[in-house]
Amino acid sequence: MAASVSIAFLPRVKRAADAARAVLRATLDLALPPLCPACREPVEGRGLCPACWSKLSFITRPYCERLGIPFVYDPGPGILSMEAIADPPAYNRARAAVRFDEISRALVHAFKYGDRLDLAPMLGRWTGHAGRELLAEADALVPVPLHWRRSWARRFNQSALLATAISAESGVPVTAGALKRVKATAQQVGLSRSERAANVQGAFRVPEVGKSAVAGRRLVLVDDVLTSGATVEGCARALLRAGAQNVDVLIFARVADPVRTSI
Ligand SMILES: [Zn+2]
Repeated sequence: MAASVSIAFLPRVKRAADAARAVLRATLDLALPPLCPACREPVEGRGLCPACWSKLSFITRPYCERLGIPFVYDPGPGILSMEAIADPPAYNRARAAVRFDEISRALVHAFKYGDRLDLAPMLGRWTGHAGRELLAEADALVPVPLHWRRSWARRFNQSALLATAISAESGVPVTAGALKRVKATAQQVGLSRSERAANVQGAFRVPEVGKSAVAGRRLVLVDDVLTSGATVEGCARALLRAGAQNVDVLIFARVADPVRTSI
C-alpha cells in the first residue's frame, strides 16, 4: 500500500522540482550572460559563438541517397554508395544535419546531460532542414525510445525533445509510445559494430497499443546521434515488422566517414 502511494506521489514531486528548476534558470538567465554551448565562452543570444559556428560541419549533397553519407567527389544525382548496396539498411533513407565531431559532440553533450534544453529549437531547425524531403512525405515522427530506467534517471528523452522541435517546424506530428525499448541495452560507447548490433538485438518492440499508429504509415525515426547505426536499424526493423509502410531516419549529428561510389 505504502509503495503505491509513494509511486503516485512521485510525478507531482518531479513536476514541482522541474518548475523550481525552471524558475531558477529564468532568474540565472537574467543575471548571467548566455554561454556558447560548445566552448562555454559568453555569447550574445542563445546559439553558438562565431568561432564554433564556423567550425560546425553541415552535411550537404553530394551524399549517398540511401545512407546520407557524403561522397568524396560528386558521382552525379541518385547514386548509391558501395556500403548501401553491399549491406542495405532496414530503413529507407537516413539524413543528418551535421557531422559528429568536436563541436557537435559538445552541443549534444550540453543538450543531453548539461541541462541545455533551450538548445532544442536550434537543433530541431537544423535537423528538420536536413530532413525536409523525408518530412514532406512523412505521416509521423517516432523518437528513439530510452529504456524507462534511463529516462527515469535522466528525467527526459533527448530524442523526444528533438522530435518535438522538428514537429514544431515541420508540422509532422510526433507519435509517442509507438515504440518501446524492452531491453535495457548497455551503453554503445566502446563497442565494435557487430557488438553494437548484438547489443540492440530484440531491444525494441511496437506494443499492442502502438500498432495502429505504425501499420501502413510512413514514419521518420528521430535520434540525436548516429554512430554505427545499430540502434536505428533495430528500431526500423521493429517498426517494419509491425507493418510500417516506410521508415526513414533523421539525426542531428552522425559519424560520417566518406563513402565510395558504386561505380
Ligand atoms: Zn563557442
